[in-house]
Amino acid sequence: MSAQMICPNCGTVGVPKSHTKGSFGVELLLWLLFLLPGLLYSLWRLGTRYKGCAACGQPGLIPLGTPRAQEILARHPAP
Ligand SMILES: [Zn+2]
Repeated sequence: MSAQMICPNCGTVGVPKSHTKGSFGVELLLWLLFLLPGLLYSLWRLGTRYKGCAACGQPGLIPLGTPRAQEILARHPAP
């Protein structure tokens, strides 16, 4: 069970989603054609993985229940 977080960018409340830069297709191609760049690309993708907003991808979500989250909720009223 994951804690609900709020996005400071768009006000979406939800569970953070894992985002990975680059694409799996490029990674696979690099591995098939050249071994070393494939390895480097895989390491780069692992290093740039982050948790972010499921709606806009913004990193740095704030846990609900903090004063800062209440402030963001007030600025983004539910439709
Ligand atoms: Zn967002």
